[in-house]
Amino acid sequence: MTSFICVTCGTQFAMGEAPPASCPICEDDRQFVRWEGQSWTTLEKLQTTHKLRFEDEDESVTGIGVDPHFGIGQRALLVRTPEGNVLWDCVALIDDEAVRRITAQGGLKAIAISHPHYYTVMAEWSDAFGRVPIYLHEDDREWVMRDHPAISYWKGDEHEIAPGLTLICCGGHFPGATVMHSAQGASGEGAVFAGDVIAVNMDRASVSFMHSFPNYIPLDAAAVRRIGEVMAPYRFVKIYGAFARRNVMADGRAVFDRSVARYLEAIGAKS
Ligand SMILES: [Zn+2]
Ligand SMILES: [Zn+2]
Repeated sequence: MTSFICVTCGTQFAMGEAPPASCPICEDDRQFVRWEGQSWTTLEKLQTTHKLRFEDEDESVTGIGVDPHFGIGQRALLVRTPEGNVLWDCVALIDDEAVRRITAQGGLKAIAISHPHYYTVMAEWSDAFGRVPIYLHEDDREWVMRDHPAISYWKGDEHEIAPGLTLICCGGHFPGATVMHSAQGASGEGAVFAGDVIAVNMDRASVSFMHSFPNYIPLDAAAVRRIGEVMAPYRFVKIYGAFARRNVMADGRAVFDRSVARYLEAIGAKS
């Protein structure tokens, strides 16, 4: 029995004798099946061919990516808070060195993931740190391919997982697409951990919103207005995106507001 991992998206599936017939995450219109056809690997194989790359972003945030590129290529973020360390988003690899390194910094208190493209090997990460809770939004439950007792499904628009650390359901990219706001982040000025729910653009001075990134399917005006509304109460200066070094490091609130207005104007809608 093996937990197979989809090579294209990095999602780990429930134990089976043989690989699943297909990957529902990749067959969905937000993703794609690799051109060579569906293919599978395992965590044990990845541990022999890939490594985790740690990149400190600032005093409280460290990016964790997979080297060389694997799957979608996103990073996880180790977020150090006064309440303990939270792993924001996830990647398809975990190894002993990463567990040692994070344990030396106090281990993990929780895992929270923005949306199904980054669920990857979340169950392995939780188990490696004493089955810490994995917070996922209930509206994306159908996309969980390997269920696990540590998964804690939450409902509604907001869920505070520790004082000042709030999960916010923006929707858009997925119905349950979530960002995390840290009131203590950015030296108390506020930070948003955005996945690609609020996608940090290549200029690192604007953000955007999409149903599908690889297939270029935009969101409609109602979805983008809603993201603007749910984020309205929050103060933040930094926005940490889904990929290595894709961060807005100053004026995050103004960058976000300008970007929402620009998006709506670009699709011919009123703010
Ligand atoms: Zn897949
Ligand atoms: Zn995505």
